Amino acid sequence: MRIAIIGTGYVGLVAGTCFADSGNEVTCVDIDARKIHLLQEGGMPLFEPGLEELIRKNVRERRLSFGTDLAAAVGPAQVVFIAVGTPEGESGDADLQYVLAAAEGIGQALRQYTVVVDKSTVPVGTADKVAEVLARTARVEFDVVSNPEFLKEGAALEDFLKPDRVVIGTSSERARRLMGELYAPFVRTENPILYMDTRSAELTKYAANAMLATRISFMNDVAALCEKVGADVDFVRKAMGADRRIGYPFLFPGVGYGGSCFPKDVKALVATGREHGLELDLLRAVERTNERQKKLLVTKALKHFGGSLAGRTLGVWGLSFKPKTDDMREAPSLEVIEGLLGKGAQVVAHDPVAGRGARRYFGDRIRYAALPYEALEGVDALCIVTEWNEFRHPDFERMKALMKTPVILDGRNIYDPARMRELGFTYLGIGRR
Ligand code: NAD
Repeated sequence: MRIAIIGTGYVGLVAGTCFADSGNEVTCVDIDARKIHLLQEGGMPLFEPGLEELIRKNVRERRLSFGTDLAAAVGPAQVVFIAVGTPEGESGDADLQYVLAAAEGIGQALRQYTVVVDKSTVPVGTADKVAEVLARTARVEFDVVSNPEFLKEGAALEDFLKPDRVVIGTSSERARRLMGELYAPFVRTENPILYMDTRSAELTKYAANAMLATRISFMNDVAALCEKVGADVDFVRKAMGADRRIGYPFLFPGVGYGGSCFPKDVKALVATGREHGLELDLLRAVERTNERQKKLLVTKALKHFGGSLAGRTLGVWGLSFKPKTDDMREAPSLEVIEGLLGKGAQVVAHDPVAGRGARRYFGDRIRYAALPYEALEGVDALCIVTEWNEFRHPDFERMKALMKTPVILDGRNIYDPARMRELGFTYLGIGRR
């Protein structure tokens, strides 16, 4: 099949590459000419494990190309994916300007019957809006499909190639057949393709993200209670997760959820509820807990150092919103570091890949360490903000020798409190004794 992907970000680039890898001819388009130029030159605009190699292979085998000319990509395509950003709008709703602008361009470029797919996370009713734009601009037949994406940054290829499920919202039999054919290589192990109407498909994505955010905030509340009553949240978590009705995923307390999806998607769902006269109180509480949680490390640091961080230097391990990505959007590290700086501390931070992205937020206001141990030299405390694998088994003696005082504020509970005490650290986790 010939496919055009509009928007070459984390989702568009992964989707385009995976569709190319299953034999399709794919053109990825973006309005960001620098990004496209970089990809055409063999460079990478983002970090995602395994993606660079797969792009290279499919470019070499001439199934994958990049361009800025939307009409040239859309004209010959049978399926066109809209994978542009849907950032938070002014009132918490999703800002659809990029989706609708893409739809406008697509409508003018259609040359024969084409399936236009909303891959971006979009509010209920967007497929209808896209169809309206296309109806105004297109001179050929088309169908609009809602096909939300569930990949996780850091494991995006695995998620795309072996999805738990594929959701396809459409009322058109013709579009359904084409989409089923396109996804067939990825659902060979009986993971289902779930067909439904566009509105249900659109809502599914928000409901799934809101549910995951809810689990995180719930456990953060349990962790806060553990600290009050002298319980250890890690025992509680393990025993809760063993219940098959609950399960283990997303029960880890920490410094709050971040990233380019959960914060904006929870807000957008609340906004959708409000638009329809429904106050989604549970999700508002989820957000409140998350705001509190993002401030927690600074609160703990202040308490430990007697109410002031002036003259203190804090090391930070981890800047990206989660491991194995360079994505800094709404990363908890932003709030942690701003909080530390605001209280007069100096900050030296290390992240395996997100240093460059972090510079855009902090510039020269913090120091960047190329290696983890460099972020420990002479510091009064270390804050662990992202649980990169390389932080899990460090040389604790070396750490102690480098730090001015051996204090660890562990925002991800990656160490054992008893062991850390034995080693001579002051160790403050989340909800631990
Ligand atoms: P992104 O910001 O990384 O990429 C979006 C790209 O679209 C940018 O490169 C931008 O330049 C481009 N763009 C904007 N308008 C355009 C236009 N008119 N024509 C061509 N290109 C245009 O965003 P992302 O993280 O890939 O997310 C895209 C969508 O997918 C969002 O709706 C997001 O909520 C959703 N989503 C993201 C993830 C994720 O993990 N990042 C997962 C699932 C769903």
